[in-house]
Amino acid sequence: MNHAHSQALFARAQARIPGGVNSPVRAFRGVGGDPVFFREGAGAWLTDVDGNRYVDLVGSWGPLILGHAYAPIVDAVIDATRRGTSFGAPTPAEVEFAELICATMPAVEMVRLVSSGTEATVAAIRVARGFTGRDSILKFEGCFHGAGDPFLVKAGSGVETLGLPDSPGVPQSVAKLTLTAPFNDLGAVERIFAEKGKDIACAIIEPVVGNMGVLVPKPGYLEGLQALCQKHGVLFVLDEVMTGFRLSRGGAQELYGLKPDLTTMAKVLGGGMPLGAYGGRKDIMSKVAPAGPVYQSGTLSGNPVAVAAGMACLKALAAPGTYKRLDEVSRMLEEGLIAEAKAAEVPVTVNRVGSMLTVFFTGEPVYDYPSAKKADTARFGRFFHAMLNEGVYLPPSQFEAAFVSLAIGEPEVAHVLAAARKAFRSLGKAG
Ligand SMILES: *Cc1c(COP(=O)(O)O)cnc(C)c1O
Repeated sequence: MNHAHSQALFARAQARIPGGVNSPVRAFRGVGGDPVFFREGAGAWLTDVDGNRYVDLVGSWGPLILGHAYAPIVDAVIDATRRGTSFGAPTPAEVEFAELICATMPAVEMVRLVSSGTEATVAAIRVARGFTGRDSILKFEGCFHGAGDPFLVKAGSGVETLGLPDSPGVPQSVAKLTLTAPFNDLGAVERIFAEKGKDIACAIIEPVVGNMGVLVPKPGYLEGLQALCQKHGVLFVLDEVMTGFRLSRGGAQELYGLKPDLTTMAKVLGGGMPLGAYGGRKDIMSKVAPAGPVYQSGTLSGNPVAVAAGMACLKALAAPGTYKRLDEVSRMLEEGLIAEAKAAEVPVTVNRVGSMLTVFFTGEPVYDYPSAKKADTARFGRFFHAMLNEGVYLPPSQFEAAFVSLAIGEPEVAHVLAAARKAFRSLGKAG
């Protein structure tokens, strides 16, 4: 496969953009080699600047559950754009959108729109602190909640891929207010709450972790965490930026029957446009300015073009059978990948919930940060490049989830599995 145009662009990019990319994991540091530059996406397929085509299993890191350039979203965006891209004033669409979010996620009684997942999580923490009058927060090892200062402690994902510890630039005084516990271990949370519960404003968690590769919550884990939070007056914040509107229409909270105090959303919610949201209990959200004293604002918040895209996306996802179909295609991929790895005698553990999936290059079960770290990242890197060469675009890191979209059908599944057959076999030989 020829990547001459991508390589030329990357050389130029590195002179003017740090690392040549506008977000770290795009740079292929986790797999080696240079990133591919894309020209176009249509449905399940991506075309790079050299004309190579790939089945896309990244989906812009989650938002594109309907595939690329989904016609109703494109139409909605064009239509909204013609009527003006921003007003900095209220519009009817944002009211309808807020009502739709609240109807879809009953635990969200009030919601504020922002422009990214990071903005949503940063604001949710501030509101939790403002509401409880407590300063510390609890997060879980390997969970990623965006690039906000309080979260860059044991943050998985890009931080993990690059092997950076906690980031320079985050003051110690901020980092020390972020307590961490292992994922899938309620006993650890009990001990932390017993000792420091009265100082902890909230526990924030990815219900299904996507940012350490996919980690599945053990049965009863999330329910148990919610109960412990309640017992200690710690707000339970579900970060559904990745899982919201993806694992089911009502997100992980619908799937696992949870009632978080606050929820953060973005990715699928914005249908591929910059849009996020945080919301939850009315008594808590009533503390947000100008209704209450906790300040949060944004020039482009509730942007009419982004809202139009999000609305078109959520409406399309309401079609009957959507999530069943997505699950079926994802299961075909999961089962096929396991079969191909087995045939090539490559030990893997595949974790999947709905349309989020990771092939870990280890024969051992993966359920938390240390067990994920046992994966052979060098082997994943070789697998990644073999798949790329066969026309499959996977997330360029062992510690990221692959995302299946509704644009992927049987021909694409067959394409991915044929590529995987070759890729796994090439590993077998290389050892
Ligand atoms: C992607 C992600 C974020 C950050 O969202 P951005 O839109 O990239 O700022 C936060 N939390 C989770 C769980 C995510 O997957």
